Amino acid sequence: MTQAAEPHPALQNLEYEDGVLLWGGRKLTDVADELCGTPFYAYDRQRMSQRVQELRRALPEDLHLHYAMKANPMPELVAHMVGLVDGLDVASAGELQVALGTGVDPAHVSFAGPGKQDFELDAAIRAGINVNMESEGEMRRIAKLAAQINIQPSVAIRVNSPFELKTSGMKMGGRPSPFGVDAERVPAMLRQLKSLGLGFRGFHVYSGSQNLRVEAIQESMNSTVDLILELAGSTDLGVSFVNIGGGLGIPYFPKERPLDLDELSDTAEKAVRRLKQSLDDPEVIMELGRYLVGEAGIYVCRVIDIKESRGARYAITDGGLHHHLAASGNFGQVIRKNYPLAAVVRKKADTEITVVGPLCTPLDLLGDRVSIDHLEEGSLVAILQSGAYGKTASPTDFLSHPLCKEILI
Ligand SMILES: *Cc1c(COP(=O)(O)O)cnc(C)c1O
Repeated sequence: MTQAAEPHPALQNLEYEDGVLLWGGRKLTDVADELCGTPFYAYDRQRMSQRVQELRRALPEDLHLHYAMKANPMPELVAHMVGLVDGLDVASAGELQVALGTGVDPAHVSFAGPGKQDFELDAAIRAGINVNMESEGEMRRIAKLAAQINIQPSVAIRVNSPFELKTSGMKMGGRPSPFGVDAERVPAMLRQLKSLGLGFRGFHVYSGSQNLRVEAIQESMNSTVDLILELAGSTDLGVSFVNIGGGLGIPYFPKERPLDLDELSDTAEKAVRRLKQSLDDPEVIMELGRYLVGEAGIYVCRVIDIKESRGARYAITDGGLHHHLAASGNFGQVIRKNYPLAAVVRKKADTEITVVGPLCTPLDLLGDRVSIDHLEEGSLVAILQSGAYGKTASPTDFLSHPLCKEILI
């Protein structure tokens, strides 16, 4: 018998009413029966608002927060975030359209991402948002498109830093990369940019994602500031904003623990002070996706069948990797681990059960041998930590099952 591990932090403070799990103050059984049917993602506005408040409390007041929309581009959710944060980061013309639909001030929208197509750059220039340029070629195309419509575009340079954010899930920086311009090429690019007459705004440095180690984030913040000050010193163009990245992670797997934001306060304060004082009081931005929305989302599916096979028990559900690729372990994980799972209706704990989806592939695994309350045909199963990189990061067409719903509560 293995010893019961301490429950995942996301499972520790769940709220129930009449034995039914609540999300955004509503019973999830009611959401399923009355509002949308299964499977669905439900996002809790209150949790998002609270998360932004926690950040504002721990971080310097003049460190502005941007929401990176690719984490979750559901329009109503983005509209809610616009009311909380200082700006948005988009990564495609499609995201830009959703962003503009919320009524956000275009001056506080940035567009990063490699391989921006001409129609996307054109839309960005016309909308008056800032483009974080990822290459010299992109800069030349922007200059050409802008000349055709006679608008001075607002641009920044995304820098591929000479260091990397350690122990983050995904590493960017310090290596060859399709993202950003190598730091050593930036001074020459700035000279070209000036001769092309583009409206230079500043720098964007993004060195990683899903980091749960405070020391690594501190180190990366410090080196990012060093790098930006060095690059700013290589040009006489004024710097009006710097985006110092983000990378704050949330706990997904057993033994992972949430970041203590207070441990970031001093470093963030120092970073903002150095940038503001050494440059001409630029806007300093931190961009976050999953940290803002990841813990506010829950994915709920219904058990279609319970079966036993050679001593193992399976709950087969109407949800699966086609809606929630990340929970199946196929979105950037090296060794598959379970997301935190809970039964929506509280019953007695049962023997271990493996929760799978309906797809004809062994990859469609949502919970491998989980300890969970009793499940039967018709039970609802919830996957926590599902607010980011869920539906839109999943192969929804695979096997042609119905799309899942999304609801903001
Ligand atoms: C993906 C991405 C983000 C958001 O990452 P999270 O881990 O969701 O915070 C922010 N900035 C850039 C440039 C990205 O590519």
